[in-house]
Amino acid sequence: MISSAVPSDPATAVPSGASAFQALLEELHQRHRERRDGAVADYIPELARAHADGFGIALATADGRVYSVGDTEVPFTIQSISKPFVYGLALEQRNEAWMRRKVGVEPSGEAFNAISLDPDSGIPRNPMINAGAIATTAQVQQLAGHGAIDLLLDHFSGLAGRPLEIDQAVYVSERDTGHRNRAISHLLRNAGVIEEDPEPSLDLYFRQCAISVTCRDLALMAATLACQGVQPISGRRLLSRGTCTRMLALMGTCGMYDYAGHWLHDVGMPAKSGVAGGVLAVVPGLFGLAVWSPRLDRFGNSVRGIAVCEELSERLGLHLYDQNPAGHDPIHRSSNGEWMQSRRLRPARDLRQLNATGERLRVLQVQGVLDAGACEVLLTRLEETAAAADLLVLDLGRVVELQVSCRPLLRRQLAALEQAGTEVLLTPVDLLGADGGDAAGADGLAGLRWFESLDRALEAAEDLLLERPTADQPRMDQVASGDGYGELVESLDPTVREVIQPLLHSRRFADGEVVIRRGERSDCLLIAREGLYETSLGLSPAGTAGPRTRLATFSPGMCFGEIGFLGDTPRTADIVCLGGGSCWELRRNDFEDLRRDNPEAACALLVAIAADIGIKLARASLQLCLLELG
Ligand code: GLU
Repeated sequence: MISSAVPSDPATAVPSGASAFQALLEELHQRHRERRDGAVADYIPELARAHADGFGIALATADGRVYSVGDTEVPFTIQSISKPFVYGLALEQRNEAWMRRKVGVEPSGEAFNAISLDPDSGIPRNPMINAGAIATTAQVQQLAGHGAIDLLLDHFSGLAGRPLEIDQAVYVSERDTGHRNRAISHLLRNAGVIEEDPEPSLDLYFRQCAISVTCRDLALMAATLACQGVQPISGRRLLSRGTCTRMLALMGTCGMYDYAGHWLHDVGMPAKSGVAGGVLAVVPGLFGLAVWSPRLDRFGNSVRGIAVCEELSERLGLHLYDQNPAGHDPIHRSSNGEWMQSRRLRPARDLRQLNATGERLRVLQVQGVLDAGACEVLLTRLEETAAAADLLVLDLGRVVELQVSCRPLLRRQLAALEQAGTEVLLTPVDLLGADGGDAAGADGLAGLRWFESLDRALEAAEDLLLERPTADQPRMDQVASGDGYGELVESLDPTVREVIQPLLHSRRFADGEVVIRRGERSDCLLIAREGLYETSLGLSPAGTAGPRTRLATFSPGMCFGEIGFLGDTPRTADIVCLGGGSCWELRRNDFEDLRRDNPEAACALLVAIAADIGIKLARASLQLCLLELG
């Protein structure tokens, strides 16, 4: 976290080596601190005691870094900035339809503290004016009763990421002088918007306005809205996405008193200000911004707060309606089975078959956020694939998010692919059923096959390619049977083979048995006869508790354990038998005897082993290369 509690003195404002982002905030702070126009609110007597020249700017990023300059740790009361957050809480506790019967969503055009209701609907016009805010707070009060203030404080503390308290002096001051708000609350009771004694709700409202926050707290509360309800430091989801969207929409149209239209026009951020001098603004998806400076303009907004936000919006291009054309291509890589191969090592004959038919397998690796724009590009690419391939591996491992609204479209496109005869294999986690939608239902998708990793999906696709030859690409000769010695031995000259075969001892392994153990002496090399032999890192991808990462699986006919054997170095990984099977084993002492007694045969064997290593190496190099390409 970058947090510099920088004093307001410009001489010490720019620490050397600070990021350019920090320097930009400091530049803004330095320039706007010269402004002295506006007046501190005094209609709540205690607010008049504020330090008029106090000035802080804090910006929290979506991944939880906080930049701060000036008086960002000085407490002040949240006042009206509490309104969208209590509205959000009420929305979550009740629901949208319920809340719409209590408070509207239209800008009012009247003073924030007008003692009036919408003449048509008989309810307050929106939750950002006092009437709407008190009506909203009443909902929380009615549900939570005596626990309401603790509920509010907990919620606000979660958003700010630290325990918050009420400024008792400000609370008492407003409670004892807030006759206008008292009148509003009784008006609400009279209109039936509040259905019980309005006094407890009014009291809760005074307390919520008196919650003591700092500029830094507000920046983090704003950043939580920028992150669709997930607090960026704790990672806790505190609000649903839908609630955040509604809060931001209301902040956009009604958040800045009677300056809301100008603000949206010039600054273009959903925001809320309060009479204690705080301004909280949100750049959805990017930043939470907060400014505190108590001198207010005639609309009741912080003079410096407006100036800083205006300039920052301009300098960083943050205006909501100033967006680059999306055009995000979500395809990370599009390739085929010739290039993308699983870590299942197969004998040369299978590899030849796969190389010859690799075109039939298309591999699409998708990345980023799949919103409607990116999804449309993906659907187009899938459509093209239908014409070109019999098999599709769709790797969604780099997808940060697949918007719920796009899932049915993707399911439908995949169903169309399958109907057109292209089999679809997906990886790594089921993103398509996550909305509870019927993956096997109305959109005609019989059931998607998901694999835990791209590697496993590729392996399954290769199996299908090998199992299902096409008319123009018939199955090549079969893999050596379990009784054969495998390609490595069979590639030897018959006279050499005659010498070698008697040295090979057959060993059986049960399913799951460790064939080679890490750290052990390498006293033999093995040639798989039956079964699969798998070696994996003890690591799960990205440190998760997910599947182990396999390095390679050796198929019948392949040689393994040769590296330690030839170099006489300890084993570097465990190799486990899958499904039970047997191997040919060449022991070190037999090989040493061979070298001494028949160096020519030993040399021929070494050449065959080198060729086998070469095939594996070529494969590893290709994988490395693809990795480097990103
Ligand atoms: N507690 C203040 C009131 O109701 C909040 C006003 C504001 O910040 O807009 O008057």
